[in-house]
Amino acid sequence: MIKVSNTLGGKKEKLVPVKKDCIRMYVCGPTVYGPAHIGHARTYIAFDIIRRYLEFKGFNVKFVMNITDVHDDMIKRANEEGISIFQLGDKNIKLFFKDMNALDIKPASKYPRVTEEIPAIIEAVQKLVEKGYAYETDDGVYFDVSKFPEYGKLSGIKFKQGITGTRVDTDKYEKKQAQDFAVWKKAKPNEPFWDSPFGKGRPGWHIECSVMSSKYLGLPLDIHGGAIDLVFPHHENEIAQSEAAFGVKPFVKYWLHTGFLNVEGQKMSKSLGNFITIPELLKEFSAKEFRFFIASTHYKSRINFSKKEMEKYRRTLKKLNEFLHRLQEVQSEKGDNVSVEKLIEQSRASFIEQMDNDFSFPNAWSVVFEFESQMNKLLAEGKVSKKSAEKALEFMKEIDSIFRVFSFKKEVPLDKEIKRLIAKRNEFRKKKDFASADKIRDELKARGIILLDTPEGTKWRKLQE
Ligand code: AMP
Ligand code: ZN
Repeated sequence: MIKVSNTLGGKKEKLVPVKKDCIRMYVCGPTVYGPAHIGHARTYIAFDIIRRYLEFKGFNVKFVMNITDVHDDMIKRANEEGISIFQLGDKNIKLFFKDMNALDIKPASKYPRVTEEIPAIIEAVQKLVEKGYAYETDDGVYFDVSKFPEYGKLSGIKFKQGITGTRVDTDKYEKKQAQDFAVWKKAKPNEPFWDSPFGKGRPGWHIECSVMSSKYLGLPLDIHGGAIDLVFPHHENEIAQSEAAFGVKPFVKYWLHTGFLNVEGQKMSKSLGNFITIPELLKEFSAKEFRFFIASTHYKSRINFSKKEMEKYRRTLKKLNEFLHRLQEVQSEKGDNVSVEKLIEQSRASFIEQMDNDFSFPNAWSVVFEFESQMNKLLAEGKVSKKSAEKALEFMKEIDSIFRVFSFKKEVPLDKEIKRLIAKRNEFRKKKDFASADKIRDELKARGIILLDTPEGTKWRKLQE
C-alpha cells in the first residue's frame, strides 16, 4: 500500500484512488515564455519517477500537464521579441517537448494549451459569477475569497477580512479584498484578447488549471502536483475556484509538491544570469546522470545543483553500470543460487517498501547500493551463476523502468562462431602457432570484437561501448 505525504492536511495518507487501479494525475506545466530550465526538469523528472512507479505497481496512470501560453510574462516577452504570443508559444512548446524527450520523461496523455481552451474557461468564469463566487470590475472578473470559507486550507494562509493593499495598484483594480484574484482580465491596449460576456480579455492564471484538469481527467483528481512555490496562491486558488464552480469536494485527493532546485546555492534568476537550460545541461552531463542526481534526493526536498556534486553522481552511476556489466559477463554454471535469489527477493521487497513510503527515493537507492555491495561480494567468491546473474539483472531492469538511469550494455549473444574461434585460437596457442592465433584475434577485432586473456580464460567484449 502506497502512502503519500499530502500537502492538504500535512499528513502521510494511504493512496486510495477514486477509481480502482486508476490514477488521474495532473501536474502544472510550464509557462512557455522562454526555454525550460533545470528547475522545471527537477519537478518533471520527480513526477516522471512517481508516475513510472505507480505504473510499476500496476496502476493505469492518466497524466495531464497544461501549457500556459497566455500570461503576463508571455505578453512581455512576445513584445520584446516583436512576435505574437502564439508564435512565442509555438516556438517554446516545440523546444519543451524536445527537452522532455531528451530527459527521457514519459509524455503526458494530454498537454492542453490555454489558448485552445478559452471557451471552457469562459464557461467556468460564468459559472462562478452565476453562483455568486465571482464579480466583475472595471478591469476583470475576480473571485471573492470571502465567499469561500475554506480558503487557506491548503497553504494555511487565512483570509483576512478587509485587508487591502498587498499590491501597489490594488485600488485601481476595485477589488473587494486584496486576496481576491482575477479569473478574467480585461484587455489593455495592445494586449491579446478573446471576446467574452465580460468584455474582451484573457483568463487569469489560476482558472486554466481548474478547467483543464476537470475537463481532461474528471473530478476529483487523485494526484495534483507542482513545485512548492505553487502552493500559494496558485493551488489554493485552484481549490477555491474548482470546488466553487463544479461543486466537487475535494477537488483533489492528494496534493504532492516538489522542493525547489537551486544552482550553486542560489535561486535561478535573470539578474544572476544563472538559468541553466536543458540543452546547456546536456552539453556537460548526460540525461541519465541528471536523472540519477534528481532520483537521489527526496522529491519533497530542496536540491542544489552544482557541477562538483554532479561529478560525484557521475562516478557513482559509472560504478553501478560497471556492476551491471560484470553481471552480464558471468558465464559460470555453478553458484550459490539460493543465497543470490534470497538476496534479490529481500532487496526487491525493501525497495518496494521504501518507494511505497511516500516515494522515498534516497532510501530506495540505499537498498540498491546494499544489493550491489552484497552481490559484488558473492561475485568475488564465485557464488554467482549465469542463471542467478540474469535474475539480478532483471531486478536492476525493474529499478531502471522507474528511474531510467542505467546504461545496460547491449546484449551481445555469445554466438557459436565466436566461441568456436576462441577455442580454435586456444588450440593454435597451445601449439605455439602464434601467427595463426593472432590472425583470429585480428579478424574478430575487425568485426568489433576484442579478446581479453585473463587467468580465468579468454573473454570477449564488443568494441566502442
Ligand atoms: P513555470 O514555468 O514557472 O510556470 O513553472 C512550471 C513548473 O515548474 C511549476 O510546477 C513550478 O513550480 C516548477 N518549477 C519552476 N522553477 C522551479 C525550480 N527552480 N525548481 C523546481 N521546480 C520549479
Ligand atoms: Zn496549475
